Amino acid sequence: MLTSSINNTTRLQLAPLKIPTRLLLGPGPSNAHPAVLQAMNTPPVGHLDPAFLGLMDEIQTLLRYVWQTENPLTIAVSGTGTAAMEATIANVTEPGDVVLVGVNGYFGNRLVDMAGRYGADVRTITKPWGQVFALDELRTALETHRPAILALVNAETSTGARQPLEGVGDLCREFDCLLLVDTVTSLGGVPLFLDEWKVDLAYSCSQKGLGCPPGASPFTMSPRAVEKMQQRRTKVANWYLDMTLLSKYWGQERTYHHTAPINLYYALREALRLIAEEGIENCWMRHQKNVEYLWEGLEDLGLTMHVEREFRLPTLTTVCIPEGLDGKVIARQVLMEHNIEIGGGLGELAGKVWRVGLMGFNSRPESVDRLLEALRQVLA
Ligand code: PLP
Repeated sequence: MLTSSINNTTRLQLAPLKIPTRLLLGPGPSNAHPAVLQAMNTPPVGHLDPAFLGLMDEIQTLLRYVWQTENPLTIAVSGTGTAAMEATIANVTEPGDVVLVGVNGYFGNRLVDMAGRYGADVRTITKPWGQVFALDELRTALETHRPAILALVNAETSTGARQPLEGVGDLCREFDCLLLVDTVTSLGGVPLFLDEWKVDLAYSCSQKGLGCPPGASPFTMSPRAVEKMQQRRTKVANWYLDMTLLSKYWGQERTYHHTAPINLYYALREALRLIAEEGIENCWMRHQKNVEYLWEGLEDLGLTMHVEREFRLPTLTTVCIPEGLDGKVIARQVLMEHNIEIGGGLGELAGKVWRVGLMGFNSRPESVDRLLEALRQVLA
């Protein structure tokens, strides 16, 4: 018998969930592939069920494929891209380590903030938003700062710029430092060769180029990075993201660490399966082809792009907002009248650009056609 009385003021009486269907052409999330959503509806099994453990192995193998790496420690972190980002920093940073971050957009600053919280001696090199670092600039910075880790954002979602990585890993070996790369807006849509480029730590997300809902985020560490982690003098300062513990769940031991978000892993497995079926190189080419179609259409509307063509991302385009227009009002109209989400500018580019994503399942000519038609009407 209850002795206390129930407070019913928060007892909402709601209708069943109803959310509008949108075409998500902003900086992410993108629409998940219908087959991925279907896989996600599969009833959950236990996180130590042999069927689930087999699925985890498949995810690990397919993540190695899409990233082109043989790193044994390649897993999906439970959480969004930021969790996987924090996992890279947390596992290899010890108090006092010099961490050099290339900041040419919003997410470089997030890395700076994070590394500082783990006690790193953070140094930065900067570039105007929309530009990228040249190899000789990185060499000079490594000579000056002698970092333990160099962190770069391969696909700056805030600017639409692609940081080339060829040759950077060799430089890092020369200066005996680890190379950490953000591939949140590149994985699945932009060519990545982690091993060939000697990348030591990388992370991504599920909700962009992989065409999956958010919540299970790719993470990988090279044997060099694992060695640094194993030689730590201090414990990893984040229990949930500690790879010395998590690798025992994803590896041979299968030791319980936390309850995996089972259904998100079903979704991720299906998303990766679809990419393997298509072939990663075809997936990259599809993204490039569709974005070029978009650029052409935008130019026909009299619009210009913020980033120089050579460094533009195939997954995310920053479009300059014409003088005198309120970008927010236009984006709102595109959303409310055409059911299409596009993003506004972040940080330095707030009010200056729209951000248009063509990622994963959404990288199709039909998405481009729908957006161009909507913009044609709204800008008329
Ligand atoms: N890094 C980059 C380049 C991103 O674009 C994002 C998100 O858009 C993140 C990190 C953080 O990922 P999430 O929002 O999934 O936590």
